[in-house]
Amino acid sequence: MLQVRGFSVTAIKIDPYLNVDAGTMNPYMHGEVFVTEDGGEIDMDLGHYERFLDINLPKDNNITTGQIYREVIERERRGDYLGACVQVVPHVTDEIKRRIRLAGRRSNVDIVIVEVGGTVGDIESLPFLEAIRQMRLEEGYENTLFVHVALVPILDVTGEQKTKPCQHSVNELRRIGIQPDIIVARCSIPLNNPAKHKIALYGSVSEEAVFTSYTVDCIYKVPLILDEQGMGNYIVSRIGLKSNTPNWSYWKSVVTSFLNYEHEVKIALCGKYAKLADAYISINEALKHAGAKLKTKVNIDWIETEIFEESPEKLNILSKYDGILVPPGFGARGSEGKILSVKFARENNIPFLGICFGFQMSIIEFARNVVGLDDANSTEIDPETANPVIDLLPEQRNIRFLGGTMRLGAHPIILEPGTLTYKLYGKTIVYERHRHRYEVNPSYWDLLQRHGLIFSGRSPDGQRIEFVELPRHRFFLGSQAHPEFKSRPGKPSPPYLGFVKAALEYSLQRSSTPV
Ligand code: GLN
Repeated sequence: MLQVRGFSVTAIKIDPYLNVDAGTMNPYMHGEVFVTEDGGEIDMDLGHYERFLDINLPKDNNITTGQIYREVIERERRGDYLGACVQVVPHVTDEIKRRIRLAGRRSNVDIVIVEVGGTVGDIESLPFLEAIRQMRLEEGYENTLFVHVALVPILDVTGEQKTKPCQHSVNELRRIGIQPDIIVARCSIPLNNPAKHKIALYGSVSEEAVFTSYTVDCIYKVPLILDEQGMGNYIVSRIGLKSNTPNWSYWKSVVTSFLNYEHEVKIALCGKYAKLADAYISINEALKHAGAKLKTKVNIDWIETEIFEESPEKLNILSKYDGILVPPGFGARGSEGKILSVKFARENNIPFLGICFGFQMSIIEFARNVVGLDDANSTEIDPETANPVIDLLPEQRNIRFLGGTMRLGAHPIILEPGTLTYKLYGKTIVYERHRHRYEVNPSYWDLLQRHGLIFSGRSPDGQRIEFVELPRHRFFLGSQAHPEFKSRPGKPSPPYLGFVKAALEYSLQRSSTPV
């Protein structure tokens, strides 16, 4: 809403957990781990901010309790607070404010949006709420604005919109000295007038300051529906900004592209954590961005690959899909099932995309079933394997601490002219984001190539394989990097666009072939 009025913005996400970053958590905790250009392993919400705002955010824009306390304790040990008793207020709150201001200054924007994660009333988020309360005093009322987002559930028996949880959370905020300026109700449908009236009355805001973030068919519609209710105008007038007339034309065309489709494809995502959609959110979004460009709705089914290990005959369910994607991952669980999924895609000429661990699984599959190294594996899965086709990166061998020590962030990749990968990107040097410790073992390069695997992308020093592909296959692409992190609505990532296009062509061909 601010961007379309001509303002520059950045977004900061505060996560009140004690982890220093999201990198050491599995996706069932807080969803996928998002990777920034500068190599941060951060909360997935920053991925949403990147996609909505079309900007690259630095890792410092994700602030956690772990980072704050680590800094304060290190300073205390250095003696920087000599003589003082070190306390949550002011030392921890000062460090929070310093980090917010620093992130704001570095990005040099008009407005800094700070999301305090968690729920009001959590013990963990108290120092952060206290810090932003103080910031209002220091920065001035006219330079700050508090937006409170609260759930308004609907009682399924009576259909009534219940505002009580929202009333209570506003009370909870006021108890610690924060009066919201705007209340956004998260409700499945738009708030009715009585509910809106109650929220305004008990929340001490005018009715013009109450908005609903209701459920929509396309997430990218959310800023549009809030602005239609007057939220953008309310914000700029409340903080006294001179605004241009909002220009929504580009964003509206992007949203329309998601809704006006002529085709549909079915993609199987064969991995772990299949029960939580947020576990692979950037991949989901990248597939949808690609689909929107092709007027194609992408239907995604998550499949737990362990089921293929128990009953290999279940692999046949994959034949109904137009494309098979093996996503990133860690550890042995489900890996044999992932390898079987790659085999199924390769042998049945079904479009295939392997990302990071999925790429590594495709190398193992090729080594086992095409080269004939029956016991080929990754040392991550079987440290004793006689044929470690995937092995630790040399610089990873002496690493003891697991936090923040993978090969991370954007690195250049040199593409081989004439390959599928090169055609997809249309250029020789690309930058994609990484997050891995293992790679294709150089001792096996010759053997793999002699059996027909094509190395279509390498690191500039030639020492790392970044992309592989197979000739004489509809579409078979493996990427060590994660191109999904750079995919944006309206600007899909080239490998994803190529994959969905191949899936669409395959689906059209199948539907026109008589059975
Ligand atoms: N576990 C693999 C590695 O560390 C792949 C990581 C990933 O998929 N992000 O190399």
